[in-house]
Amino acid sequence: MRVLLVEDDEMIGRSLKQALEGAGWSADWVRDGELAQSALADGDYTCMLLDLGLPRQDGTEVLRRARERGDATPVLVLTARDGLDDRIHSLDLGADDYLRKPFEFRELLARMRAVVRRRDGAAHSLIGGSTLQLDLTTREVVTGGAREALTAREFALLHALLERPGAILSREQLENRIYGWGEEVTSNAIDVLIHGMRRKLGAESIRNVRGLGWRVAA
Ligand code: CA
Repeated sequence: MRVLLVEDDEMIGRSLKQALEGAGWSADWVRDGELAQSALADGDYTCMLLDLGLPRQDGTEVLRRARERGDATPVLVLTARDGLDDRIHSLDLGADDYLRKPFEFRELLARMRAVVRRRDGAAHSLIGGSTLQLDLTTREVVTGGAREALTAREFALLHALLERPGAILSREQLENRIYGWGEEVTSNAIDVLIHGMRRKLGAESIRNVRGLGWRVAA
């Protein structure tokens, strides 16, 4: 699960990035609106945390342009402004939810899970197909009625695959979903991860489509 954190306040940005990583998210942090635009255009993010008051381009402008481009990344707006107009405006522009600073980190995580879940089309916390499901709240995989704990990377891998069961994801798409900027990704990292998942969940759980990538059964 990869999040784009857009925050110009050094202290808030640094502590949020650290806390998100501690909670198993891969977090890319940018400090202005223009960098947010280019990161969004290049990256494949599970969700974006967006401050409104930003240098170079305001958060509402980032949001407006992203939605105009057809970018459907779930957006949670973080704002110190207590103006009702700002909150209504950002929701109308396509934000999925907002949180006023200061907030409790636990609440931020719960709201992130909620916006991601809604994008996945699930009212409850389970997503996936008939044989394999993922619990977004407990971060466990559910298979044949049994639950199994996952590492942060295993969770990110399965989340990417189970968003659209049956769809093939390439190595590059999976790497983009699992690793943040500056993270060392060895050429066989995805293979090692999938090998481990198959040992846990069975050889047929994740299928290789030669030359194209991987998928889970629909
Ligand atoms: Ca700000």
